[in-house]
Amino acid sequence: LIAKLPHVGTSIFTQMTALANAEQALNLSQGFPDFETDPRLTQLVAAAMEKGHNQYAPMIGTQSLRETIVNKYKAVYDVDIDPSEELTITAGGTQAIFTAIATVVGAGDEVIIFEPAYDSYAPTIELFGGKVIPVRLLAPDFQIDWDYVATLINEKTRLVIINNPNNPTGKVLGNEELNKLGKLLQGTDTLLLSDEVYEHLVFDGVEPQSVLSIPTLRERSFVVASFGKLLHTTGWKIGYCVAPAMLTREFRKIHQFNVFSVNTPMQIAIAEYLKDIAYVEGLAGFFEKKRDLLKNGLKESRFKVLPCEGTYFLNLDYSAISQEKEFDFARYLTAHHKIATIPLSAFYKQATDQQVLRVCFAKQDVTLLEAVAILNKI
Ligand code: GLN
Repeated sequence: LIAKLPHVGTSIFTQMTALANAEQALNLSQGFPDFETDPRLTQLVAAAMEKGHNQYAPMIGTQSLRETIVNKYKAVYDVDIDPSEELTITAGGTQAIFTAIATVVGAGDEVIIFEPAYDSYAPTIELFGGKVIPVRLLAPDFQIDWDYVATLINEKTRLVIINNPNNPTGKVLGNEELNKLGKLLQGTDTLLLSDEVYEHLVFDGVEPQSVLSIPTLRERSFVVASFGKLLHTTGWKIGYCVAPAMLTREFRKIHQFNVFSVNTPMQIAIAEYLKDIAYVEGLAGFFEKKRDLLKNGLKESRFKVLPCEGTYFLNLDYSAISQEKEFDFARYLTAHHKIATIPLSAFYKQATDQQVLRVCFAKQDVTLLEAVAILNKI
């Protein structure tokens, strides 16, 4: 066997969740809600099945779901998207990311990613022969030096990947930063993949951002988002990719032989459910309260809570408690204090010497209060 990804093991999310289960620990590691989605939504899925929506959906996604998405972009950003030429429904965000990379990255192409980065980017780039060019950003502010990024762009730079809001840092790139990126890419052949799956989870008055509202970026971007984070249904694996018609045509050639089409009843149900766009707006406040519950609960603890403007992740600096490496400390906390987290180093190609753990606050208030009680004792 010639291994295609010899240096890759099981993802840190799978590992830490397995460890949490084995240790019967509170699981704040992998990002998923421990509460249910709205029963009205599951009833709509059942209704769609009973009405006979049980065969293949169109390859590009059902019309009603594509229209729902188009309406969302119009309402939130005043941006027009063509639902038949520029939008494809995918089996979750990660699959859309995989397909976008497969669409444009080939042998010898360079792809710039910002670390800490979501764990799927680098292996997917490598699978298609691309070379990962990491830009290492460090706690506590994970600031991007755009002048430095400019020095990395050359004729081999095929793609830049951003994740906004960022998992795991919780940072949001605002209009000013996105425009800086737009200026850097203008006049080059470099494309952009903007992973916007946490788009609507933004706090403290921060507005949702999409590169679709910046023309120089839109014309060269794949924008990926997902319903898992929006509807508390990470297990449904439904997302989408928006890209200019020319890129979408190529994306779909790969999509049709990989996924073909995404399950029909859930697409029908989600479209029906999201007819009321207000749902999207209420979501930020819901998660902001959870972030504050955890953040305020840790004020007197020995953990230093790093800033979080978006996503459902909070980073905890434990340097006042221990100098142990993040992986070791995360394992120790799981086994001895019965709380599972994610070492931030998992999001870097090479482990850092920081002492930071990521926790997920998409949890019931009772779970968060339990976490606060444990963390305050450490
Ligand atoms: N996006 C989720 C996280 O960051 C995990 C997704 C996965 O397990 N692949 O925790």
